[in-house]
Amino acid sequence: DGEAVGRRLASDGEAVGRRLASDGEAVGRQAGGHDELTAYDATRLGAMLVAGDVSAEQVTRAHLDRIAAHDSDIHAFLTVLGDEAIAQAREVDRRRAAGEVVGRLAGIPVAVKDVLCTRGLPTTCGSRILEEHRPPYDATVVARLRAADAIVLGKTNLDEFAMGSSTENSAYGVTRNPWDLGRVPGGSSGGSSAAVAAHFAPLAIGTDTGGSIRQPAALCGVVGMKPTYGRVSRYGLIAFASSLDQAGPFGRTVADTAHAYAAIAGHDPMDSTSIPEPVGDVLTGLDGGVEGLHVGVVTETLDDVEPGVAGRVREGAELLGKLGAEIVEVSLPHARYGIAAYYLIAPSEASSNLARYDGVRYGLRADGDTTEQMMAATRSAGFGDEVIRRIMIGTYALSAGYYDAYYVSAQRVRTLIIADYRQAFARCDVVLSPTSPSTAFEIGAKTDDPLAMYLNDVFTVPASLAGLPALSMPAGVDEAGLPVGVQLVAPLLDEPVLFTVAQALETEIGFEPVPSGANSVHPPGRPRANAQTGEQGHR
Ligand code: GLN
Repeated sequence: DGEAVGRRLASDGEAVGRRLASDGEAVGRQAGGHDELTAYDATRLGAMLVAGDVSAEQVTRAHLDRIAAHDSDIHAFLTVLGDEAIAQAREVDRRRAAGEVVGRLAGIPVAVKDVLCTRGLPTTCGSRILEEHRPPYDATVVARLRAADAIVLGKTNLDEFAMGSSTENSAYGVTRNPWDLGRVPGGSSGGSSAAVAAHFAPLAIGTDTGGSIRQPAALCGVVGMKPTYGRVSRYGLIAFASSLDQAGPFGRTVADTAHAYAAIAGHDPMDSTSIPEPVGDVLTGLDGGVEGLHVGVVTETLDDVEPGVAGRVREGAELLGKLGAEIVEVSLPHARYGIAAYYLIAPSEASSNLARYDGVRYGLRADGDTTEQMMAATRSAGFGDEVIRRIMIGTYALSAGYYDAYYVSAQRVRTLIIADYRQAFARCDVVLSPTSPSTAFEIGAKTDDPLAMYLNDVFTVPASLAGLPALSMPAGVDEAGLPVGVQLVAPLLDEPVLFTVAQALETEIGFEPVPSGANSVHPPGRPRANAQTGEQGHR
């Protein structure tokens, strides 16, 4: 598949590749890097690699150089795998030169959220408790990336154990939004979304329990996709809330994101909740258009949304209508209880999952006179405030006497939300809504108010509770020039329709999300906008 797309683009890529070869060399000689190579998306790079115009090593070096030059501003990465990545790239180049079959992402750099196990390499979950942890195995997602010959560039920052919406809860410091270094990238996969937005990697992997791929994608102006629960293996994804956790891809285009999804999706016998059905083809029908499809617009939700966000959602619906989709109003009457249900279910599962960090088997150990004191000291020293808050809420919600009032009630709400979507999808193929009620907010703005932070997830948690596939894509900017994401949600296992609608909308919007504000890390070849004119990255 990858090769087919590669071939389709080969001619295009060749021309660009040729231009770059001389260009890039010159730049390389002058500045010690080929920064221009990082301007290209994964599909384009794939074509250039297939055509032999660039090597995987050149592509990898260009991205590593850019990380070295700019990640001190952003802090997207906790670990950069320089030597390993170069060695991997050389091996891909060697195999390609020898005429061997290479994978669908051969030579394409990818950044991986530090909650996915990488064999022998740091896997911290953004937590002190796993600071020294080196897993003895690769997560299936990582193994699949490697099998696809993607180049794993490094591990990205996250809210500790993926708990948060801003990447301010990491024990290793905040990640900054490439569009405005004073603002958050969203979370919890903020390192991955910032890495893609800053052109540190064309692709990244995040995880989404209640919105942690979609919300940071929205705040960083990239595409982020959460597959159907069980579509991507959770083997080696360090657990937060097991009934909700799902890994998924980030890219700068819908097509790139679809390619990355295709590389990681599929049944895995190592995950008992993995879905055995074959993976629906998201690539062949990608350009199929929306003619005849029904797009549901949720009636309840636009009230508490920033005007810049609501405006882009309305425009999105209009554009899809113009393209031949039928716009229908749908109601999700119980979605407003989603936050309350999610913030009982997710902490309940977390309180159980995180019991394994006891100072005995692996991870941090602090001293104590008795076993119990050792465990308490370890957990107090190893966990940050938000993780401790979740463990306390979850333990309370599961305790005898409160279990029925909180945990069971929340599960009932979950069932009602599932039923809401079932009714909605009787009338439409996808549901369109905002991804997040606001654009990127300032660092520190919500850290003292957990409830305000939780409300960022109001549009993303319902699909998580229902296990549905969902995608956030850039749809323009707000009055301040910050990127706005819109969310599409599809029925279970209907990833193909999700990507097809997103592709149609992306083409019609014609918006190229380019960080260019005065306080941004702008992509290669793009001058920083004048702070006075505030000119933004519209095409
Ligand atoms: N922001 C949500 C939370 O804090 C979602 C996190 C996630 O999806 N991992 O739980």
